[in-house]
Amino acid sequence: MSSVYDLIVIGSGPAGQRAAIHGAKLGKRVALVENREVVGGACINTGTIPSKTMREAVLHLSGYNYRSIYGMNYRVKERITMADLAFRVQHVIKTEIDVTQAQLSRNNIEVLTGSAGFEDPTHVRVTNSRGSTVYEAAATLIATGTKPATSPKVPINGTTVINSDLVLDLKTLPKTMIIVGGGVIGVEYTCMFAALGVRCTLIERRPRLLEFADQEIVESLSYHLRDSRVTMRLNEEVESVESMEDGTVVANLESKKKVTGDTLLYAVGRQGNVDELNLAAIGVEADNRGRIPVDKDFRTKCPNIFAAGDVIGFPSLASVSMEQGRVAAARAFGDETILSNPSYYPYGIYTIPEISFIGKTEEQLTEEDVPYEVGVAYYREIARGQIRGDTTGRLKLIFHRENHSLLGVHIIGEGASELLHIGQAVMALGGTIEYFVDTVFNYPTLAECYKVAAFNGLNRVSKLD
Ligand SMILES: Cc1cc2nc3c(=O)[nH]c(=O)nc-3n(C[C@H](O)[C@H](O)[C@H](O)COP(=O)(O)OP(=O)(O)OC[C@H]3O[C@@H](n4cnc5c(N)ncnc54)[C@H](O)[C@@H]3O)c2cc1C
Repeated sequence: MSSVYDLIVIGSGPAGQRAAIHGAKLGKRVALVENREVVGGACINTGTIPSKTMREAVLHLSGYNYRSIYGMNYRVKERITMADLAFRVQHVIKTEIDVTQAQLSRNNIEVLTGSAGFEDPTHVRVTNSRGSTVYEAAATLIATGTKPATSPKVPINGTTVINSDLVLDLKTLPKTMIIVGGGVIGVEYTCMFAALGVRCTLIERRPRLLEFADQEIVESLSYHLRDSRVTMRLNEEVESVESMEDGTVVANLESKKKVTGDTLLYAVGRQGNVDELNLAAIGVEADNRGRIPVDKDFRTKCPNIFAAGDVIGFPSLASVSMEQGRVAAARAFGDETILSNPSYYPYGIYTIPEISFIGKTEEQLTEEDVPYEVGVAYYREIARGQIRGDTTGRLKLIFHRENHSLLGVHIIGEGASELLHIGQAVMALGGTIEYFVDTVFNYPTLAECYKVAAFNGLNRVSKLD
């Protein structure tokens, strides 16, 4: 039997959901294929939502944010277990799945459960335990996301050697932990476990963590990691991993060092989910990390097949994936009216403390010979910072020395990912830092940092002029 759709979307993560809903809003007949039993993709089931909920549970139960006020021994719960964390995570996952399902059904999107693969550019075969069916579609969007990359050097056993999909399956909280990978996922989990009192060793092959973030902000994060007793092994590569008889794990480094822990989390990269797609049938080829090349409209080499979200590579964020999916569905039906500017995509990194930024870093502007100045505000100078007990946060504005246009905003501190959006709006509307000087912010709020930083920046310019 062959059913005919205007759009078939493969994958129900953020990219697929938004694409399907946008297609439906354009009046098209849309089917969404998902190979998991539930919708939501890696975002809801194993990635963003579980990790951010776990972070919230960690911060709450450990009393971490209030230790500067009530003392280093302050705790909301004395013995925090993995079950405490999983309880809150499962609750949020279930709710998010329900919300997503409701949105899809409200928009009359047919959800087909099974694994999708191409027969040719207009036919998709969906296979599940009941058999397989071929569906026809004028356009198809690949939004199949990624899975944790594997390495023969690090055999995952699901108990002592795990990847990010398996963190919440840990039965007990380890006393010591080795985290391999200083990218976003590795650093976020390091912060969470360190806040729970786990002695963590973070191993990264590059000379610094989070290489795409502003150096000063990363240095500040590194200070916090060391303060939480994290040992950082930078410029180090894992040669092999051994599971010992006493139940511990040893990471042997190429430099001949050995690192021992109760658990090892391998968080080095992700691999595109393309194996089941039969891309050869549409003349499309993924690269060695399973990333599908697309043009600015998210169109693959095959004119009626689009791809969006993590499967096309950087920046691999749920936030951006949603937007890519929406734009891809618009373009599939000739709608050119939706414009999305990657220069204004924000980054939120949920370390402890949180990091968020938009626009250029100082390093990029130096490289590009752009004359810039910075203005900085410290949370400790702001009443809200004192009230919240976050006295180490800071907000940095980077602006053009001559025309004062805002070129970048970089924040480290609690609430950073929310606070950033003020700067994002000013940047997107072409504003200058005088906007912050002339604006009255609620008091006491962290938003006041913008005003203080703008004054600080203008002072620096006037002293130099
Ligand atoms: C631990 C972790 C933390 C993260 N934290 C954040 C964060 O704080 N903020 C943020 O913005 N992003 C975060 N991300 C990234 C975010 O989860 C991804 O960017 C986002 O999920 C990508 O969405 P997607 O729609 O491309 O794919 P996914 O969410 O991966 O969904 C793809 C779906 O397609 C299904 N699928 C694959 N192949 C097929 C097939 N052949 N047929 C049918 N279905 C198929 C998959 O099973 C999956 O359900 C995090 C990721 C991880 C792993």
